[in-house]
Amino acid sequence: MTHYDVLIIGGGQAGIPLAHALANGGKKVALAERKDLGGSCVNFGCTPTKAVIASARAAFQARRGAVFGLRVPSVAVDFPAVIDLVHMTGRTHPEINSELNRKVGVKRISIATVRQLERRLELARTMLRGR
Ligand SMILES: Cc1cc2nc3c(=O)[nH]c(=O)nc-3n(C[C@H](O)[C@H](O)[C@H](O)COP(=O)(O)OP(=O)(O)OC[C@H]3O[C@@H](n4cnc5c(N)ncnc54)[C@H](O)[C@@H]3O)c2cc1C
Repeated sequence: MTHYDVLIIGGGQAGIPLAHALANGGKKVALAERKDLGGSCVNFGCTPTKAVIASARAAFQARRGAVFGLRVPSVAVDFPAVIDLVHMTGRTHPEINSELNRKVGVKRISIATVRQLERRLELARTMLRGR
């Protein structure tokens, strides 16, 4: 059975840097993420919303072209294309996982493994209480 010093639940803005720091400090780290590594910030929060804002700003500036001595006949927002851009800026790529493992030796484990570990821990607690 593999032994870990630390189990981190959640691979978001808090979990990933913590995993890096602990692994760099010599700890054997396991990370459990139920969905996409990167958490809310990179997958649907900070980064994707900034991509939408960037498109909105570009459209706004283009419409004010005359102020800058530009002739911009018309500006149309292609919303599906904006959303494609949003998805491209998200960092949910399979390589994040392998990069994380390779760089700092953090092992990503499944939620099922976490549940197994919890059951073992509970069993150990029960046995200790019985002593
Ligand atoms: C629309 C939006 C825009 C934002 N913009 C900004 C911004 O511009 N600047 C800024 O500083 N902040 C912004 N934030 C806030 C920022 O996203 C959060 O502060 C940050 O992501 C919190 O990090 P975290 O690691 O605590 O949580 P998260 O990044 O949410 O990570 C938690 C992770 O834990 C996982 N998880 C949860 N429960 C379990 C479980 N039981 N088992 C396994 N995995 C689990 C989740 O799947 C998730 O991946 C924004 C948030 C949103 C929603």
